[in-house]
Amino acid sequence: MRLVLFGPPGAGKGTQAKLLAERRNLLHLSTGDMLRTAVRNETPVGIEANGYMTAGELVPDDVVNGIVAETLAEIDHTGFILDGYPRTVDQAQFLLDLLEENNAPLDAVVSLRVPEEHIVQRLSRRRTDRETGEIYHLDFNPPPAGLRETRLQHRADDQPEAIRKRLTEYRTKTEPLENFFKAKAHFVEVDGMGGLDEVRERVEEALSTIETTA
Ligand code: AMP
Repeated sequence: MRLVLFGPPGAGKGTQAKLLAERRNLLHLSTGDMLRTAVRNETPVGIEANGYMTAGELVPDDVVNGIVAETLAEIDHTGFILDGYPRTVDQAQFLLDLLEENNAPLDAVVSLRVPEEHIVQRLSRRRTDRETGEIYHLDFNPPPAGLRETRLQHRADDQPEAIRKRLTEYRTKTEPLENFFKAKAHFVEVDGMGGLDEVRERVEEALSTIETTA
């Protein structure tokens, strides 16, 4: 199966992509995670991406397209869920062209809907376990009791100023992709509000409708 999980920052894409990837044995490909690893390892991509990421801006398309193309080639363009990519119309066109060249059409784009007023709250209370990559929310999905606080990371771009910038980037560059996907892919919308399991069930339900109509 080849999927794109689409939605604003803080919609729960990372959490849902991880669950879905485990259940369906797909590669979870998060460009944000890949870029953060590159920054930590101070690779050329990481050095180029770092400033954009800290400011909450999008990393240039050619950098991100390059890492996605490389990773998808490693898995023969099959069995993946993309999280946080594509984020611009140019990236989306690049992806569709790449998949077409490899006879590997996208099955669906699943869009997680979360109203904007909830996003800032979600992001500012989000924490990541440095060791496992697990994502928590201090109020709604708190880390287990006893987990050392120093393991919990508050991302630099989850601070108020960067959050505002990321939302502007989303509105101007990523949201227009909705119409692109509606025209060129199987686009399904899922309500992203509510608990983790509730949303997971809605995603599964949406995917089962695709599977039965495919
Ligand atoms: P995320 O973890 O998906 O919220 O991504 C964190 C940051 O990485 C974004 O704010 C961007 O700076 C960068 N990034 C991740 N994916 C992309 C992408 N597809 N295009 C451009 N920049 C990206």
